Amino acid sequence: MAITPFHPPVRTLMGPGPSDVNPRVLEALSRPTIGHLDPEFVHMMDETKEMLQYAFQTKNQLTMPVSAPGSAGMETCFANLIERGDEVIVCQNGVFGMRMKENVERCGATPIMVEDEWGSPVDPNKLEQALKDNPNASLVAFVHAETSTGVLSDAETLVKLAHQYDCLAIVDAVTSVAGSPLKVDEWEIDAIYSGTQKCLSCVPGLSPVSFSERAIERISNRKNKVQSWFLDLNLVMGYWGTGSQRSYHHTAPVNALYGLHESLVILQEEGLENSWQRHNDNHQALKAGFEAMGLSFFVNEAYRLPQLNAVTIPAGVDEATVRAELLSRYDLEIGAGLGPMAGKIWRIGLMGFASNQKNVLLCLGALDAILADMGADIQSGQAVAAAKRTFSA
Ligand SMILES: *Cc1c(COP(=O)(O)O)cnc(C)c1O
Repeated sequence: MAITPFHPPVRTLMGPGPSDVNPRVLEALSRPTIGHLDPEFVHMMDETKEMLQYAFQTKNQLTMPVSAPGSAGMETCFANLIERGDEVIVCQNGVFGMRMKENVERCGATPIMVEDEWGSPVDPNKLEQALKDNPNASLVAFVHAETSTGVLSDAETLVKLAHQYDCLAIVDAVTSVAGSPLKVDEWEIDAIYSGTQKCLSCVPGLSPVSFSERAIERISNRKNKVQSWFLDLNLVMGYWGTGSQRSYHHTAPVNALYGLHESLVILQEEGLENSWQRHNDNHQALKAGFEAMGLSFFVNEAYRLPQLNAVTIPAGVDEATVRAELLSRYDLEIGAGLGPMAGKIWRIGLMGFASNQKNVLLCLGALDAILADMGADIQSGQAVAAAKRTFSA
């Protein structure tokens, strides 16, 4: 039997990513492919860089998208800033901190772990203790917005501590960019990476990164070459850098970069602060709906992410069945809990283009209908009205 073209169903993506892609971005992807050293393309790269500086709130010259997903942005930061034998403090309060530890080990360095409960933010006091106990540490790494639990950590305070003890700071901002306030220059972040498929509402597969002068100095003064040829910033800089003639490093994912450019134009049109506010407003509506339904949030309100809502699953409910029903009856995707959170929480994303009133009402209405049909212990019929009230307030 001949295999026919693949036409995916149209879903609403309210999981931990990818999030709904803005149709303008999908249209941009289908524009004609041109050479990646074409002067028109080079001009687009410069604009993309400028708009990424805006999204990160930085003037860092070394700001660009790595041609691979968020995990490659993570590896870029670790591979370039770590040398064999270094000591690196890794703060872990969820899945992505665990991956940072893996990165440190694979770079031949020693991770020093600062652990917090899943569902809690990184504790600055624990970090300070680790910095005092390990005077040879040269780097601190942590996740700003932990997508596995829905927790925001205080990046500004953590970076300040790192600097007080002569460490540079690597920050994972895959889920925070465009969804939560983030100010790379004001907070003096040294190395940061993000992803395109979360609050930027672009397709997956690119990882915007940015490096401070302090970070570049450390990279330029390395004793040994970066182990990864592809991710070595000393080489990539020749491709994305300004001024000098651009030289071939790898073939840029031309059309994917059109998509990123478009998503950043959209962000610029809305305004970064407005985007943060929209994420918060829709989160407040979703929260009002869940509370009216009688469901609670897993994370304390003080450090809850607006773009990733961890909701406690009601007792006796088979959560996988609920997600399967959401998908088959409403074409709606939400996320399951990861690791120790599996079976305990749902992860409901309101990221980027998907963070809108229509999706809030769809999600609440669909979950209400499914849970009521299953005979779950919820207050049925209240959620949509409660969410709607926050919109008109
Ligand atoms: C999604 C995510 C990543 C990984 O990004 P990929 O594009 O899947 O490689 C890393 N960190 C956090 C916090 C994320 O949410």
